[in-house]
Amino acid sequence: MTARVLDGTKIRDQVFADLQVEIRRLAGEGIRPGLAAVLVGENPASQLYVKSKIAACEQLGLASWMHTPPASVTTDELLRLVHDLNADDAVDGILIQLPLPLQVDTKRVLEAVDPAKDVDGFHPVNLGRLVSGRPGLVACTPAGCMEILRRAGVTIEGANAVVLGRSDIVGKPMALLLMHANATVTICHSKTWDLPDVVRRADIVVAAMGKAGYVGADWIRPGAAVIDVGTNKVTDAKEAKRLLRNFPARLEKFRAKGSVLVGDVHPDAVNTAGALTPVPGGVGPMTITMLMSNTVKAARLRRGKARAHVVPSVAGAR
Ligand code: NAP
Repeated sequence: MTARVLDGTKIRDQVFADLQVEIRRLAGEGIRPGLAAVLVGENPASQLYVKSKIAACEQLGLASWMHTPPASVTTDELLRLVHDLNADDAVDGILIQLPLPLQVDTKRVLEAVDPAKDVDGFHPVNLGRLVSGRPGLVACTPAGCMEILRRAGVTIEGANAVVLGRSDIVGKPMALLLMHANATVTICHSKTWDLPDVVRRADIVVAAMGKAGYVGADWIRPGAAVIDVGTNKVTDAKEAKRLLRNFPARLEKFRAKGSVLVGDVHPDAVNTAGALTPVPGGVGPMTITMLMSNTVKAARLRRGKARAHVVPSVAGAR
């Protein structure tokens, strides 16, 4: 069996088309959703990520702003910036690009973001809403994985779903989203016993461990849906050969470039899974997509609420 490839760039295009309809509708009401990005210092990877996020805003016609404090910034200075962005009514979403420099108290800064503008879904208030199944802003990567499963028509209700990894930004929210969608969820981590046996029972596998090709192809139940969140840069030739021995074209590219991106699931799983996200090109494009979706959602929820508050009091004052 060769798995159906769940192409994240195609799903991104579908989500963008839906968002464009909503953005036009909001424009008709005089609302232009806007995202403010905070990029501290000059980390090249962070610069690249933020650039892609701003480019996505421009592609969709969202307003965007970039704030670039120096690497020497203090926690208090960042807290003041976040405070100003919270107070700015044109800003619907605030994105603090991580990692922040060591001298900055990252938790304090993230928790200072108004939960209504927390488009990364990292704020404890939004995590609490997710736990209790109330509407809120959900972390982009797990939200993107759900979007892939839904748009690919994978049956979630009643399915055995195994999530590999329990981080606050991927594993835990992913498990909660699957549970709210009525899957029976098992969360695995580095202390889990008999991992291959647990994975073999899964109809849906979400791998978010950060271990290149760790999940063997023979762990995947034939026909299962595999969402591979792992994004691992492999530079060791022996490791590349172990992972890509059945993919000569990719191995050739590795030899030319000296590195290759591989997921947490061994690429041979394409011969056992029923459907699978490629790495790169699967979950990756969905993370920025859901950031855009959260910004539009924040604009709808926040400004809708603002109007509901403002209009009656103005009417009452008259
Ligand atoms: P993380 O915070 O390092 O968490 C990794 C999790 O995997 C931990 O819960 C850890 O267990 C578990 N784990 C590690 N080794 C394991 C093993 N041998 N068996 C079972 N579980 C194991 O990582 P993260 O931030 O969640 O990211 C995970 C991966 O997703 C990374 O490769 C990252 O690059 C990628 N990622 C991709 C995107 C994207 O847009 N495509 C976005 C975010 C993350 P313990 O808790 O016991 O330590």
